Amino acid sequence: MTDIMTGKMFVFTAPSGAGKTTIVKHLLARYSELEFSVSAATRVRRPHEVDGRDYYFMSVDEFRHKIDQDAFVEWEEVYKDQYYGTLKSEVDRIWKIGKHIVFDIDVKGAMNIKSLYGPRCMSVFVRPPSFGILKERLINRNTETEASLNKRILKAEAEMEYENSFDIVLVNDVLEISLMEAEHIIETFLYGISKT
Ligand code: 5GP
Repeated sequence: MTDIMTGKMFVFTAPSGAGKTTIVKHLLARYSELEFSVSAATRVRRPHEVDGRDYYFMSVDEFRHKIDQDAFVEWEEVYKDQYYGTLKSEVDRIWKIGKHIVFDIDVKGAMNIKSLYGPRCMSVFVRPPSFGILKERLINRNTETEASLNKRILKAEAEMEYENSFDIVLVNDVLEISLMEAEHIIETFLYGISKT
């Protein structure tokens, strides 16, 4: 059993469209000892999303109030007026229930978490095989308006530069292989061995 002293964390980051969310969802379904860190966010909720499960949705004013209260481990204005952040209360909540934390956050936030938690944290940069493929995936995902899509493409291009700042780079080309590699990362960091 882990607790607030022995809990570990995995921070997954990637340029938007690299497929990290698919990998994170797979790991959460596969390992009951992992729990997803639900971030606070100010963007509009997408139709399939649930408040408190996908994000703690809040207004920009509420978010800024929490910044003033020093309630965040890290936060970023990821896009203009779109704030995202990890609440201290979320990290405490997960370690208190005896689980290890999984983050799905942007590149800067991931670097901040890694520098705060050091050896308790395994940081993983998920990378598409190429920038062209990433662009194609973003367009095909079809969840964004054109303006929002362009914003994400520009940001993704800049984020590709940061892969060397992470413990591990996971190239997401063939999904089945990436999932096995991700399982290997989890098992090795938690137990020192891997079944895969
Ligand atoms: P989306 O709007 O697609 O859900 O997320 C946009 C970006 O914000 C993604 O790169 C996502 O990983 C990132 N993000 C989500 N939660 C957090 C957080 O708590 N902190 C930071 N820094 N980024 C986050």
